[in-house]
Amino acid sequence: MVPDIAMILDGHSRERTELIDILWTAQRTAGHISADTAAAIADWLGLTVDDVLETATFYHFFHTTPSGRHRIYLSNTVIAKMNGYQQVYDALESETGTQFGGPGSAEFGLFETACIGMSDREPAMLIDDVVFTDLTPASIAEIVEGLKNGLRPEQIANPGALRHHDAAYAEMLTHPTCHTAGPVFFCGDTDYAALIQRCCATTPEDVIATVAESGLRGRGGAGFPTATKWMTCRATDGDEKYVICNADEGEPGTFKDRVLLTRSPKLVFAGMAIAAHAVGAAHGILYLRAEYAYLRDYLAEQLRELREAGVLGHWFDIRIQLGAGAYICGDESALIESCEGKRGTPRLKPPFPVEHGFLGKPTVVNNVETFAAACRILQDGAEWFAAMGVPGSTGTRLLSVAGDCTAPGIYEVPWGITLREVLERVGAEDARAVQISGPSGEMLSVAADGERRLAYDDLSCNGSFMVFNRDRDLIDIVKDFMQFFVDESCGICVPCRAGNVMLRQKIGLVADGAAASSDLDDMIVWGGIVAQTSRCGLGATSPNPILTTMKKFPEIYTTRLRESNGGLLPSFDTAAELSGYAKAVAQLAPQEPL
Ligand code: SF4
Repeated sequence: MVPDIAMILDGHSRERTELIDILWTAQRTAGHISADTAAAIADWLGLTVDDVLETATFYHFFHTTPSGRHRIYLSNTVIAKMNGYQQVYDALESETGTQFGGPGSAEFGLFETACIGMSDREPAMLIDDVVFTDLTPASIAEIVEGLKNGLRPEQIANPGALRHHDAAYAEMLTHPTCHTAGPVFFCGDTDYAALIQRCCATTPEDVIATVAESGLRGRGGAGFPTATKWMTCRATDGDEKYVICNADEGEPGTFKDRVLLTRSPKLVFAGMAIAAHAVGAAHGILYLRAEYAYLRDYLAEQLRELREAGVLGHWFDIRIQLGAGAYICGDESALIESCEGKRGTPRLKPPFPVEHGFLGKPTVVNNVETFAAACRILQDGAEWFAAMGVPGSTGTRLLSVAGDCTAPGIYEVPWGITLREVLERVGAEDARAVQISGPSGEMLSVAADGERRLAYDDLSCNGSFMVFNRDRDLIDIVKDFMQFFVDESCGICVPCRAGNVMLRQKIGLVADGAAASSDLDDMIVWGGIVAQTSRCGLGATSPNPILTTMKKFPEIYTTRLRESNGGLLPSFDTAAELSGYAKAVAQLAPQEPL
């Protein structure tokens, strides 16, 4: 047996569903998952080594080669890049003496990572499980010096030694700002034991009818009616059923679920218990994205308190499943695969998770905000909820606002509010564009779309709201979003795996002023193919950054086209194409002639 493997496996069951937890323990114990460790884990779980490695190599936060005693992940969102990202990046390289993308050192590994859910306070990074926000070169120097002096990341970030189990710890690390709260969210806790008791005294059908009357639709983005999902799951035969809370908010720019879990965790868990009663489930899972691992002890404490209060534990209980860094796990079927200890590969649908979900059992997956809203509906009534918003979009919507505005943070707004009204609230005086719903959403023109309304049948927003003023280069932003999709594609289907790379290359040509009008035509055709033939929502929406900016801001493309150049394609760069040949010739030159 390899060193430490007994310690790694200690306390873990032999179920495949434990695999991601075991890999986390291995990573924390040894800094990476070695071949020997993978073999021992495979033996323990009755899997092949390839099974273990297939999962281990899928997720961004697992490493199969040494990755440094401290693994530093710098969030590389467009918002970070608007706020000093490059200076922080350079400071990290010079202070640690290592490079991003390089082999690292025994002490440090530097990695870029997609949005870590801190767009209100970027640049931001994770060191191991600890979050650091509002970074500057000066703060980087202090942090790295502390690490070199033997301090743990947590000792640096948490000098007052606040308990991980307390909300104060999470608040201190991330300093969330809620600019407008209520009437649905952030209203303070209630007597959850009494509420759940009252719900359980009502028939499941009546609970579902209440949710249906409220008009609640899933807040994850698709807007599927919550009651319909619950009703289908209830109607599906199954000896066991599951309720899963999707806390994998990986859409760049969004962070509202993080704040809900920080300030109203019991509201979310009570919402899961209500769903469990409605569908007949005994087991719940909170799938927590790895970027929010710092919340785990606090959330576990909240669950313990709910058990003590009799809300959980007897007829229904919840466990926390930590992810490991993969945007695609926001897809409900990929998330279920991940809960089963596998790669986060989206399943072919049908069957849908409500019929064939976790371990093949009927499973309801809703996101954090949906469960929180469901709980408030059962608390204050369907009529109260349905009276807010506009027809087809009832209640309120949480927005995570970031970018060019004076007051980034969380806003609770009524559905039906116009784009311009939101911009006024957040202090965005010179906004030219808004990326709504993250890269998978659309780029809106403030001039053309200012009077449009946030509503499922108009601007259906998943909570991400990024503002860009007139100084921003929108093509650079589109390029960044396309790179995000290239990095996050799970790769199982060709249109998404190859098509996004090709689209990324084309937008690179536009950024370099090397594109011809035929390149724009290609992007429209290829974008359509990727959207229509990909398996899941990632591929279906990944061309959006290009297609929506082409529609809303055609001038940013046409003004950057390269002039025609004789018989050559305008995008053909002769010097660049010949540089490899020139290099080879230069290397041959000093040699003796044959
Ligand atoms: Fe994977 Fe992309 Fe296909 Fe979705 S569309 S299944 S992310 S390759």
